[in-house]
Amino acid sequence: MPAPEQPTHPRHSVPVRVGHITIGGTAPVVIQSMTNTDTADVEATVAQVRELAHAGSELVRITVNSEDAARAVPDIVRRLEQAGENIPLVGDFHYNGHKLLANHPDCARLLAKYRINPGNVGRGRKKDEQFAAMIGIARKNGKPVRIGVNWGSLDQSLVARLMDENAQRDEPLDADEIMHEIMVTSALESAAQAEALGLPRSHIILSAKMSGVQDLVTVYRMLSARCDYALHLGLTEAGMGTRGVVASTAALAVLLQEGIGDTIRISLTPEPGGDRTREVIVAQELLQSMGLRHFTPAVIACPGCGRTTSHYFQQLAQDIQSHLRTQMPEWRRDYPGVEEMKVAVMGCVVNGPGESKHADIGISLPGTGEKPVAPVYVDGEKTVTLKGDSIAADFQQIVDDYVKARFGNG
Ligand code: SF4
Repeated sequence: MPAPEQPTHPRHSVPVRVGHITIGGTAPVVIQSMTNTDTADVEATVAQVRELAHAGSELVRITVNSEDAARAVPDIVRRLEQAGENIPLVGDFHYNGHKLLANHPDCARLLAKYRINPGNVGRGRKKDEQFAAMIGIARKNGKPVRIGVNWGSLDQSLVARLMDENAQRDEPLDADEIMHEIMVTSALESAAQAEALGLPRSHIILSAKMSGVQDLVTVYRMLSARCDYALHLGLTEAGMGTRGVVASTAALAVLLQEGIGDTIRISLTPEPGGDRTREVIVAQELLQSMGLRHFTPAVIACPGCGRTTSHYFQQLAQDIQSHLRTQMPEWRRDYPGVEEMKVAVMGCVVNGPGESKHADIGISLPGTGEKPVAPVYVDGEKTVTLKGDSIAADFQQIVDDYVKARFGNG
């Protein structure tokens, strides 16, 4: 069988250390997420950071937008350490970041990275002063910085300058092209400014987030071609539910396949009462389905059709998937390599046995009119045929035994 396709031209960016995590260079693509709690609410923020970390987020960003939020950061870090969580926190700063970092040295010391949006640093002369103040504090504390451009909050002086320059050209760029140029220039000029202020390249990550899929792909290709800074990918304002998942995946998959992107965040708007960890699960599924990383054993399930009159096999596929996810924190520790396992749950004998044979472990449930038995395949061989009311429980036990036997003892 051909090996899974890998990124066509892996881009070796300058690696950046963020706490115990490496972003860029030859490191695997890192998953990040962001809380939506009031950072000043220590209890709620700690709880959500823990949820995101347990779901698999390797960095978590929190907004630091007020004196109260900055004051809460040391408490949040202490509470996370006490709970045994080793998760680097990134502080998101806008407008007053220079003041908050200066007024709260413990906050500046304990955050693992600062995110600065060059469009929201300040206006006029103050912009350079305030940017320099934040870079100075990052240098003093040895912290990396993400220079995060967002098309919804562009530096207006830069927009005016590049529009003027464009108007002078013999063949001016069109509206989309000039927007892309502004995004890239904002990121690169700010990075050059940070370097001129003494921040090393190995402490700089860039992002240039847009909300259109084609815009995002274009801008990151331009950035990738013009620099070797580590790149953080994300479609901003991706939206809710299926729309957000599909749009983010469409944009990020194209870039990742070209080797562009060292860390990703899927920015989903949670549905009311929805689970914030969904953005982490989607990021994991994206990287895993592209063969770039493995997090949880894959469940391969057929879509079902007129041959399956009951929802039994859908239920079994869902139960197995949630069982595997629930077990992963322990299994990851006790059974290294288990995350690459494939489990097939198929609805009938048409494709069931074939797909089951290709998986590490597979079950083919009876379709309409078929004998009420479910053959199980392990490592391509039929080992047992399950029947009766306990098919689901028996199959789960077979999966658990297989994991212990195959991945136990290292
Ligand atoms: S494996 Fe069987 S039940 Fe599943 S989609 Fe194919 S024909 Fe339908």
